[in-house]
Amino acid sequence: MTAKRVAVLGHPVGHSRSPAMHNAAFRELGLDWRYEAIDVEPERFAEFVRGMPAGGFAGANVTIPHKVAALEVADTASAVARGVGAANTLVFRGGTIHAENTDVEGTLTALRERAPEAPAGMRALVLGAGGAARAVVFALIQGGAAAVDVWNRHPDRAMALVSDLAPAAVNTRLTATKDPSAREVDLLVNATSVGMDVQGPHSDAAPETGSFKELPVSADELDDRLIVVDLVYGQNRTPLACAARARGLRCADGIDVLVHQGAASFRLWTGMQAPLGAMRSGATGKH
Ligand code: NAP
Repeated sequence: MTAKRVAVLGHPVGHSRSPAMHNAAFRELGLDWRYEAIDVEPERFAEFVRGMPAGGFAGANVTIPHKVAALEVADTASAVARGVGAANTLVFRGGTIHAENTDVEGTLTALRERAPEAPAGMRALVLGAGGAARAVVFALIQGGAAAVDVWNRHPDRAMALVSDLAPAAVNTRLTATKDPSAREVDLLVNATSVGMDVQGPHSDAAPETGSFKELPVSADELDDRLIVVDLVYGQNRTPLACAARARGLRCADGIDVLVHQGAASFRLWTGMQAPLGAMRSGATGKH
């Protein structure tokens, strides 16, 4: 029997940690599966996806810029993927393409690993209004946050996000803000790409340079009770995650979210629980 295949589709896609993370999981469980990174141009995306089942693919992850197109190409989609308006995971089964968004579960699981009581009843500030921010805001709504403020460098995108997700925010006060303050919230989430650095093995060491001055929060605002999630990952922990940890705050970082969204996708493709330790080692390059 030939190995089952899974791939991450992006443009570009070379930077992805997903192949190392998932192949480590397949090895750990002794599965004859293989995970690849495939660069697909936007014009070819739908046609490429439709041909994947015949090529032996059981599923795919989808990253920038294909997450909206992934939802559109699917025959069926979960309520979560439809609510976010984008998919990061496709499952090919019985001749159909099913779309899911595991960034939502990944964010909630990583957050609750650090702060089990979150985000129910909490007030949150989300920085960013791209694809990741949409999944984060949906996750906070689903988790019962009392209020979510969204800030973005270009405010019109924050307003568009709020308007698109308002129908889901039945019990959450969802607003766009131009004047955010981390002091007034319980939970701060960075879903911008600020803090990304060069690629390489993940390290716990604080970067020698770099700050989060492009974000509208300062280290002084990181009060004792604040919970922080930073979706960004790279060679080093981000300046925001470092500042939060240095102050003793509970902080989930981008690797935590990556591992948990990956684990949810792994479960959908294989029907098996993911080996989290092997996935983390694969993603960080630390064994
Ligand atoms: P995206 O759709 O391209 O959005 C990028 C966001 O970053 C926008 O809100 C953009 O603001 C903001 N931004 C970029 N440069 C900025 C700057 N200099 N100052 C302030 N804001 C800036 O990307 P995405 O898919 O949302 O991803 C965002 C980040 O999350 C990336 O670093 C990605 O790797 C990470 N991510 C991590 C995981 C995980 O599993 N850990 C999952 C998904 C995403 P404007 O709209 O004003 O340009």
